[in-house]
Amino acid sequence: MRKRIIAGNWKMHKTMKDAASFVESVKGELPGDDQVEAVVCPPSLFVAELAKLAEGTSLHIGAQTMHEEKEGAFTGEVSPMMLADLKVSHVILGHSERRQYFNETDETVNKKVHAAFEYGLTPIICVGESLEERESGKTVEVVTGQVKKAFEGIDSKLASEAVIAYEPIWAIGTGKTATAEDANEVCKEIRSAIASEYDDEVAGQVRIQYGGSVKPDNIAELLSMGHIDGALVGGASLEPESFLKLLGAA
Ligand code: PGA
Repeated sequence: MRKRIIAGNWKMHKTMKDAASFVESVKGELPGDDQVEAVVCPPSLFVAELAKLAEGTSLHIGAQTMHEEKEGAFTGEVSPMMLADLKVSHVILGHSERRQYFNETDETVNKKVHAAFEYGLTPIICVGESLEERESGKTVEVVTGQVKKAFEGIDSKLASEAVIAYEPIWAIGTGKTATAEDANEVCKEIRSAIASEYDDEVAGQVRIQYGGSVKPDNIAELLSMGHIDGALVGGASLEPESFLKLLGAA
């Protein structure tokens, strides 16, 4: 049985004060970590403070991105070593906004997946097709290609600990969600791609989230699908009440 995982991707939102008050308000209301893995990924600036505030609770703090090197002359970047040092547990890699605006490629995502595991961080690897790719029938080819490249050179024990977020690009921040059946179908294809790279056991352990306009009122249907193990949520993860509802549904 795969543990469900709900991760909030705050993107470039909130001040330190708002971020801290979010953690304060959800802290006492969180379901147990054995029931659902609850993660919030604030902007890097707030990670250290939130990791301290969340200590001793079941809330995990993740990062939205990181560089693949441990240190060096990379102005503006944060490294896996720094995140691990702050007790960050998860890191989102290859989000479509990073791929689109910050030159993240399948190759750099693969390097970052290696680096995340090296520092004990759980990678949340984002994959997804554009509207054009979907309309030309390339969804499965694009998405499974991204998955295979992300996992290159990762051994099976680590691979089984990875989280994949299937996020159709056309569904992010648009209010359009893939139907639960369509999302599940792609997640199923992702799982079989993992099975062919590794084996059925690994494929049965990898958790696959759906992302793209997930809200408290559509999450239950998505989670009722056999291959969807959680959600990566942008807009609807910003308010404590809505985040708690998402967790409640899981
Ligand atoms: P959204 O964002 O929930 O606001 O569509 C999801 C994401 O980009 O991870």
